[in-house]
Amino acid sequence: MPDNTLAVMDSVSRFLDRHHGLYIDGQWCEASTEGRLAVYNPADGQQISSTADANAQDVAHAVQSAHQAFTSGIWAQRLPAERERILLRYADLVEQHTEELAQLETLEQGKSINIARMFEVGCTLNWMRYTAGLTTKITGQTLDVSIPMPPGAKYQVYTRKEPIGVVAGIVPWNFPLMIAMWKVMPALAAGCSIVIKPSETTPLTVLRMAELATEAGIPPGVFNVVTGKGAGCGKALTEHPLVAKVSFTGSTPVGKGIARAAADRLTRVTLELGGKNPAIVLKDADPQQVIEGLMAGSFLNQGQVCAASSRIYIEAPIYDTLVAGFEQAVKSLTVGPGMDANAQINPLVSSDHRNKVAAYLDDARSKHAELISGASGPDSQGFYIPPTLVINPDDKLNLTREEVFGPVVNLIRVADAEEALRKANDTDYGLTASLWTTSLQAAMAYTPRIQAGTVWVNTHTLIDANMPFGGFKQSGSGRDFGPDWLDAYTESKSVCIRY
Ligand code: NAD
Repeated sequence: MPDNTLAVMDSVSRFLDRHHGLYIDGQWCEASTEGRLAVYNPADGQQISSTADANAQDVAHAVQSAHQAFTSGIWAQRLPAERERILLRYADLVEQHTEELAQLETLEQGKSINIARMFEVGCTLNWMRYTAGLTTKITGQTLDVSIPMPPGAKYQVYTRKEPIGVVAGIVPWNFPLMIAMWKVMPALAAGCSIVIKPSETTPLTVLRMAELATEAGIPPGVFNVVTGKGAGCGKALTEHPLVAKVSFTGSTPVGKGIARAAADRLTRVTLELGGKNPAIVLKDADPQQVIEGLMAGSFLNQGQVCAASSRIYIEAPIYDTLVAGFEQAVKSLTVGPGMDANAQINPLVSSDHRNKVAAYLDDARSKHAELISGASGPDSQGFYIPPTLVINPDDKLNLTREEVFGPVVNLIRVADAEEALRKANDTDYGLTASLWTTSLQAAMAYTPRIQAGTVWVNTHTLIDANMPFGGFKQSGSGRDFGPDWLDAYTESKSVCIRY
């Protein structure tokens, strides 16, 4: 096989070599701590950069900068059309830097350069432009009321949507650039200021995005970035009294802790959390479509996708055919570094996460589960896990109940659709699900019975800026995307006028 590994762009090398501080008030500043957090290339385990480990004092600096920018009106009180124009310019600038941002993303996160270009940057541009457009569509209502006092008085009520204030955006490591923009863009479209904390594992692209925001004309203090650990920097940010809203994407246990802390001050919270997403394959489904759709649904970004299909329930008459098809597909996957555009499976994000996924597989093996794996990674120092099918695992195995977040998918034989529905819903999670059938009757009958925020039919993992996304049950609270997205970043004020 020829070596197709991309050469790293000069601008990316220079960015990696920089001494990264915090991005506050439209400029770089030093953290008050000396400790650094290493950033590794998952493909070979080598350190490629480092970032600051901000403490509560640094966080307070960033929040105060955001608060000052908000109360000054420099952004919130601009004409909506001006905010929209600047946000669209920001998207154009990001588009011009697609290759640089995609390489940076692949080098810190491990994902394929193809996914980084098309999905991480390409789809993010769609979201950025969609959300920029919402800036000029913020509306209230005019309401007639029935207030009888004093006799003869007349009243007119209208509602206004006002920006909520300083937003804290907490981002995970699986799509660092895209998920950061899922927080920055609605916050800024609504007129808020934001402090973003990326994952300590993947902080680099967000820092570069902050620089580009300033270049696009977003005023100082409106978009700030602090880097650091979750328990220190992240906790200090979500609990800061000047933060009006927390937008969190990450694991369910951390999300619950943030919700508990937010309850003390009734800080507004949106939670986009984990999933253990089922796919239900009925016996009339098209096998080829199922294999193509669920290979992508299960192995995109090495399964490190909150919406990934990780439990596939297959009706008995087509179970053996599909297992054979999945086995062939998994064994044909090429495994290699994300910078090799031909590699279909890439390393996991970190050695800790690789070890966590490996522990799930070791546990399953020790309990005699049948595993079918594809190729291993080419570099023993890289954080690779081979793509793996788990054949008919016991319901009580850890990997059948918990979110593995790796290239591992369970194939489970069921007698009929009723058993599939019961097992699919038997989880604390409820993020996404898919149903595979050629019967319109079955699709219409079963989709309302699946407990998930998004249910796909004959596809999986497709998301869109205009399609609300979020979780049932312990997969979250609130919805991102869609025409009502900015509601979560505004307060509704009723104005009652006597005339
Ligand atoms: P995580 O919960 O460990 O960390 C997420 C972020 O929270 C990181 O920036 C981390 O530093 C920070 N954090 C950790 N402890 C904190 C605390 N006490 N206070 C404040 N911040 C804290 O999640 P992860 O491992 O980075 O990401 C994987 C998880 O994210 C998976 O569970 C996945 O399903 C979920 N996810 C959900 C969605 C969605 O839209 N529902 C999207 C992507 C990822």
